[in-house]
Amino acid sequence: MLFTRQTFLVAGLSRSGIAASEYLISQGAKVYVYDDVDDETVRAAVERLSKIGCIPVKKDELNERAERCDILVLSPGIPVDHALPVSFKRAGKKIVGESELGALALRCPVVAVTGTNGKTTTVTMLECIFKAAGKNAVACGNVGKPITACLKELGEDGIAVAEISSFQLETLYSLRPHVAVVLNVTEDHLNRHYNMENYIYLKSRILKNSSESEFAVLNYDDPIVRAFDEKTKATTVWFSLRERVDGAYLSDNAFWFFDERIMSADEFPLDGDHNRANALAAIAAAKLMGVGNAFIAAALKTFRGVKHRLERVGEVNGISFIDDSKATNVDSAIKAIGSVRGESVLLVGGKDKGYSYEPLFEAIKTSGVVHTVIYGENAFRILNAALSRGYTAVTLCRPFDLAVRVAYLVARRGQNVLLSPASASFDAFANYEERGNRFAELMGVFAREAGREEVRPSLPAAGREREEAE
Ligand code: ADP
Repeated sequence: MLFTRQTFLVAGLSRSGIAASEYLISQGAKVYVYDDVDDETVRAAVERLSKIGCIPVKKDELNERAERCDILVLSPGIPVDHALPVSFKRAGKKIVGESELGALALRCPVVAVTGTNGKTTTVTMLECIFKAAGKNAVACGNVGKPITACLKELGEDGIAVAEISSFQLETLYSLRPHVAVVLNVTEDHLNRHYNMENYIYLKSRILKNSSESEFAVLNYDDPIVRAFDEKTKATTVWFSLRERVDGAYLSDNAFWFFDERIMSADEFPLDGDHNRANALAAIAAAKLMGVGNAFIAAALKTFRGVKHRLERVGEVNGISFIDDSKATNVDSAIKAIGSVRGESVLLVGGKDKGYSYEPLFEAIKTSGVVHTVIYGENAFRILNAALSRGYTAVTLCRPFDLAVRVAYLVARRGQNVLLSPASASFDAFANYEERGNRFAELMGVFAREAGREEVRPSLPAAGREREEAE
């Protein structure tokens, strides 16, 4: 097989790097493994991989080893303009991601989902729909389960529901999804992709291998995504909240697919137009995969959402705590403040990604947000954006724990404390999950101080890589 005569260097030993190494070893390849972080998790990964025959590489021997390797398997967390991939490129050698290895090996149909926001929610929704129809569907890719780790489980009869991020698209060439869904494209990750043109181009790459026999499910309401129709050979099926498009749409308060009424929109439990849009995208993809309307409706009616996405974590003293820690860019935070019912004290801040926060404060002015507490490394950039838009109902408080407490103290009975940061978490946390969990913990502290038990419903989590896109 192709891999047996090749020497690989796997760089970045999170979930996908481990899965790629294990897969390559199982295919008889020679595999070197490297991570420039030296913590407990990486050491455990190196130990596990050494046992199956991978060869660990130390920092000071990296260049010499890299010269002897044929292919670099790059973690999505490492940019393609990092010195290591640049040295491979200069030498004319291949650079692939774990998802490329998965794409080459998959033998079953693939439904791939990309977009700035809503990927995990839509992929999880689709997995539920396919499972309701008795199909062996596995949500994989960026959602937390590497594709190469699901190959056996999927076999030839499964359906790979693959979440694909822009970071993965940098090193993914062979994926040819039966259905490719593009949810939306708004500003994000400009610190990594430099400009919108490059980011849009990367997102469009999900459709580059498609022919007329494959489908592109595209958001008619998003001008950037709408234009993808002209660039792809795939057959476009639209989804829209506003127009009766050829595809899935909202009309008379119901979800439709062409002339078939799927269900009443009132029966779909998630708040927010953005979640209705995600549901329409899922309906279109499921219909194109041959799922019956009754299964789609049954799955959507019972879909509870995914942890850290507008998750109502509990209530203390009549104040609701809503964890939207996964809102790591401005558009997702705008969607949150537009969806949450009633009045809210908003918490924003964290690690900057290079875009403007001004649209957030434009949206806040006409929303139920009564006060904003700004925290984190980018607090002053956000404060400047607020002031430049004439918004002054703000408190700046850089440490996260204190900021959550301030938000709780400012909120009145009947209002929400809404964590929707519009920023990545890496300034103070390992990832957005840790930030959301800390938020819920703090709510627990306030409940105990108030001598009350907090109410804490729990949703299923979606795991991410240590250094994965936020
Ligand atoms: P992704 O996997 O693309 O990051 P998620 O489903 O994890 O998307 O949701 C991330 C954040 O974006 C959450 O705060 C969620 O409420 C919000 N969101 C979900 N769907 C959409 C959408 N279609 N448009 C804008 N924001 C969305």
